[in-house]
Amino acid sequence: MIDLRSDTVTRPTEDMRAAMARAEVGDDVYGEDPTVAALEERVAASFGHEAALFTPTGSLANVLAVASVVGPGQEVLCEARAHIARAELGAHGAVTGLTMRTWSDPGGQVDLAALEDLHAPDMGPFFVPTAAISVENTHNFAGGTVLPLADLQALREFADRRGTAVHLDGARIWNAHVATGTPLAAYGATVDVLAVCLSKGLGAPVGSLMVGSRDAVAEARVRRKRLGGGMRQVGVLAAAGLHALDHHVERLAEDHEHARLLAEACGVDPTTVATNIVTFDHDDAPGVVAAAKERGVLISAVGPRTVRLVTHLDVTAEDARRAAAELATVVA
Ligand SMILES: *Cc1c(COP(=O)(O)O)cnc(C)c1O
Repeated sequence: MIDLRSDTVTRPTEDMRAAMARAEVGDDVYGEDPTVAALEERVAASFGHEAALFTPTGSLANVLAVASVVGPGQEVLCEARAHIARAELGAHGAVTGLTMRTWSDPGGQVDLAALEDLHAPDMGPFFVPTAAISVENTHNFAGGTVLPLADLQALREFADRRGTAVHLDGARIWNAHVATGTPLAAYGATVDVLAVCLSKGLGAPVGSLMVGSRDAVAEARVRRKRLGGGMRQVGVLAAAGLHALDHHVERLAEDHEHARLLAEACGVDPTTVATNIVTFDHDDAPGVVAAAKERGVLISAVGPRTVRLVTHLDVTAEDARRAAAELATVVA
């Protein structure tokens, strides 16, 4: 089976497992795991931020990141298909007590005109005050689209004029970085706080980070423990992340190339594929998924009419070619 359901399905490589086995560890709740500390420092510095916090999932990193800038009874604005709005099981409302309002953009892009209408200043006991704007780069449900740096810079100015924070869900920020050559620090400079995932295209078995100011991270460390996310000798997991940063970033370009190949086979214009995700409409998405499975290719339906494929570390060039041939038959 060639598994194109998600880039979360990767298995740690032999070299990654060896790095995990070698990792120096300590009790991270006591702040004594040197490998976790090294990962947190390295990731924070790469985005030009002061500090970072290792978390078991991207959802928890997002919850901690958003809660560092939006309090109970305040709102965060985001795109309608944002992961924080759709795929985190309501954690931000249930745990933090915040609300969300959304704008819709087919490409998951920033829409300053919509934000102009949505943004609510603090109006006392009348309207929910807007505390933050959240963006997702790359945008998962919009099909791995990239948010251009210039748009993020314009958003930063928009937010600064209103005293509003900006949060980035950067679960696949390394894909955006490799696809465009934009330095991670340039993305980092446009936001107050962000969440990044090592367990997507980078191929770590687990692990994400919340990145921000020293104060925000110190506060998030307390919240993480309160939510049951304090972890002990997790240097073994951080080592997988460090290995991924050393060896699996530049190769994301191969995933992007494979995604374009698969797009073409499915009748999608490959120039519209920005990174490692291909989505396309079909009258019978579940039917396409079932037919592909018969031919040894696992893909997913993310809506009754929307098919999604995701390339990753465990899809070789040969796999991509074979999957493309099978999918071309299925879609035809
Ligand atoms: C995967 C993902 C996350 C985090 O998901 P977890 O499964 O909780 O690690 C966050 N945002 C986006 C856009 C994602 O694709």
